[in-house]
Parts: sequence; structure tokens; C-alpha cells
Amino acid sequence: MEKYDIIVIGGGPAGLMAAAAAGRQGARVLLLEKGERLGRKLIISGGGRCNVTNRKPSDELVRQIVGNGRFMYSALSHFGSEEIIKFFEGLGIKLKEEDHGRMFPVTDKAISVANALIEHIRQLGVAVRLHAPVDRLLIRDGRCEGVVLRNGERVGAGAVIIAVGGRSVPATGSTGDGYAWAEQAGHTITNLYPTEVPLKASDEYIRHKALQGLSLRDVALTLADPKGKRLTSQRGDIIFTHFGLSGPAALRCSHFVSVAHQKLGKVPLPLTVDLFPDLTQDQVLRDLTDLVEHEPKKAVKNALRPLLAERLIPLLLSMAAIDEATTFAHLPKDRWQHLARLTKAFPVTISGTLGIDEAFVTGGGVSIREIDPSTMGSRLTPGLYFAGEVMDVHAHTGGYNITVAFSSGWTAGTSAAGHLRAEE
Ligand SMILES: Cc1cc2nc3c(=O)[nH]c(=O)nc-3n(C[C@H](O)[C@H](O)[C@H](O)COP(=O)(O)OP(=O)(O)OC[C@H]3O[C@@H](n4cnc5c(N)ncnc54)[C@H](O)[C@@H]3O)c2cc1C
Repeated sequence: MEKYDIIVIGGGPAGLMAAAAAGRQGARVLLLEKGERLGRKLIISGGGRCNVTNRKPSDELVRQIVGNGRFMYSALSHFGSEEIIKFFEGLGIKLKEEDHGRMFPVTDKAISVANALIEHIRQLGVAVRLHAPVDRLLIRDGRCEGVVLRNGERVGAGAVIIAVGGRSVPATGSTGDGYAWAEQAGHTITNLYPTEVPLKASDEYIRHKALQGLSLRDVALTLADPKGKRLTSQRGDIIFTHFGLSGPAALRCSHFVSVAHQKLGKVPLPLTVDLFPDLTQDQVLRDLTDLVEHEPKKAVKNALRPLLAERLIPLLLSMAAIDEATTFAHLPKDRWQHLARLTKAFPVTISGTLGIDEAFVTGGGVSIREIDPSTMGSRLTPGLYFAGEVMDVHAHTGGYNITVAFSSGWTAGTSAAGHLRAEE
């Protein structure tokens, strides 16, 4: 049986970084990837530009890792965003900072990031096998000693790092294969669910596609439970779709929708959109009345255009029981107040999310209680390590998931190689 120091399963950002880290320690590393190329999800990430990491301070990074961010403290303190930036600069990939601390390659091409990593592991002498799907782990006397490929071939190793990702966008190769292996090694898999995924809504205007395609910039969303208790508030852009809401702010609410539905069953959840998050309701009312007072004879529908998205106006007016053709001179004050209230809390009824196949990220995974956060080593099976999205760790979009993948991959690769050296 062929034997390596370390086998890394999965050629995504976590696996590539684990292979690089172990290779830098002088370990003989084999990277097994079932697809025809490495880094397939990495290449499509960040809209094809790869949001490599995020330059926010590490406390903020941890807060943005909404699924078990604190588990990542130790790994991020050794290999966090600054180290990731330096690492890539060392490979000749310069990064630039965009809004909200998001870091992208100056080339604006994800492929340049993937290629730099692939070339780096090649230079380190990491053996790479493509079209090499792993079927199961080789566990003997409670220790992980290698893997069995789907073609029956066995490959031995001093340590195995599982970095096969979650279950989202399975066309990229992330088909959830790692969960069964983790269970084989005695691990618990927490509930799997879609996250960073568009939201479904049941309102009549959504069903009638009245707002489909309408984008709103820099609005504030507040999601609540059926009793009105706030679950989260998120600020950013949204887009109305034929099924509900998408866009960065909506995606950031999806984790909270999934978690609430796991707790409460699939109950409708009220979400409000604040169209003017920097203004109070009184200020909005003043702006609305100022605007229309200038043109008392104009139909309110037309007079409101400078302030509100044109496609939203008929719906808002109908919700506020205002006749579109009414002029300002004929409108009672309480109608304006109602309209101002609606602009500060436009209602959307969230019925769920799209499925895991369409999600950017998989929530849930290998329980973090059974993984040592300082090494990413299994607490149950010596010789076994985890990295990336296969673990029950997930974050908002914005470079945080790739940061988790790189940071945990680096930690797993370094620790596995260090541990083997110490054993020798
Ligand atoms: C469209 C899209 C855009 C995204 N954009 C961003 C972004 O901008 N910023 C951000 O932070 N995150 C983003 N993400 C999330 C991020 O890409 C993932 O969290 C990250 O890729 C996870 O890395 P990973 O290495 O753990 O797993 P993956 O990238 O999923 O890689 C797993 C690898 O394992 C391989 N594999 C699976 N099973 C086997 C097997 N049996 N044998 C051998 N190999 C196997 C797969 O083929 C795959 O190559 C995005 C995700 C998507 C889908």
C-alpha cells in the first residue's frame, strides 16, 4: 500500500491551504480531489473575483462567522486575515480592499488566486491526484491510518485531513461526502441546513411578481419571530425576486430564518424593510410632505417619484389606502403618517429559504465539540483532522467563509505535520 505522511481529501480552499501548510513543514503530502480540477468553488466565489478574506478586526471576523465563530478564535489568532494577505502577497498575488473590508485580488480574477495556490503546492512537492474520489477512511484500532478510494485502492497516511466542504452547489464537487466518514470515526453531524441563501416570501405582491427585479440599495432589514421578538437586523442591498428576496442583506438573514424554523417549525416570520435607515419616521414624514407640498396639484403617485422607487409607489399607496390619483391638497394627514410608517417598515412575510443546493454555504456539519480548535484534530480519532465547511462553522458572505477555510486548513496542515514530526 502506498503511504504518505498526510492525505488531504478535497481540493477546495481548505484542502489546498492544508496541503500548503503541511508541505511547508516538510511533510510528504497527497491531495485527493474527486473532480477534474482543483478549487472549483473558489473559482466561482465572490462573483468570479474571489473574496479572499476580510480585513475587519478579528473580533468582528468572529462575529461575522455566525455559525460557531468562537471556535475559530485560536486558528484566526495564528492565521487570520493579515496572515492570509501576506501569504498571498508572498505568492505574488496582490490584494486590494473594497467596501466592508472585503479583500479581492487586484486582477479581479478568482482563477489567479486558485492558480497561485496550486502552483505553490506543486513547488512544495505535494502529490495531487484528480478524479480520485475517496470512498471511506481506513481506521484501525481507533486510529485513522489512510483512505480507501472509490476504485478500491487503499492509501496509507500518518494523518488524514477531511476538507471536502459542505453540500451546497453540488456541481462544484461539494456533495457532503465527508459527513459519513466523520460518523464512521465516531463524530456527530449537526443538523444540515442552507444558509447565505435567498429568502422565500408568501405575500400577495410577491406571488403576483409585482416587485420582481426591483433592487433597493442600503436598506435595513429586521427579521422577527411570530411574537415580534427581533431575530436579526441586517443592512445592505436587496432585490425582490419571483419567490421572495435576494441580495446581500437578505442572504445574511437566511441563517436566522433556518435556525428559527428548526426551533419553531415552518412558521411565517415577519420581516420589515426600512427604506430610509438613516432617517427617523418624523424626518421621512417631513421629507414626504415637503416634496408634495411643492406640487399640491400633482397626483401623489407622480409627486413621490424623487423619493421612492417608482415600482414601489403603487404598492405603498395601496397599502396606505391612498388613491394614486389623489393630489396632496386632498390627502388627510393620517394617510401620510401611514405611508411614512410603511417606508420605515415595509412588510415581507418570510416562509423559508431556497434549498441547500442553491445556498452559498451549508449550515451545520461535523460537531465542533469533537474537534480541538487549536489543531483542528479529532478529539475522538487520532490521526484525523477537519478543515473548512465540512465542520459546523459557517459565516456571512464577505470573505469570511473562505477565511474560515484558509485558517482552519492552515491550522490542520501545520498541526498534523507537527504532530507527526513530534511522534517520530
Ligand atoms: C457561488 C458561491 C460564491 C461564494 N462566494 C464566497 C465569497 O465571496 N466569500 C466567501 O467567504 N465565501 C464564498 N462562498 C463560500 C466558499 O466558497 C466556501 O465556504 C468554501 O469554498 C469552502 O471551502 P472548502 O475547502 O471547505 O470546501 P469546497 O470549496 O466545497 O471544496 C471541497 C472539495 O472537496 C472535493 N471533494 C468532495 N468530495 C470528495 C471526495 N469524496 N473525494 C475527493 N474529493 C472530494 C470537492 O470536489 C471540492 O473540490 C461562495 C460559495 C458559492 C457556492
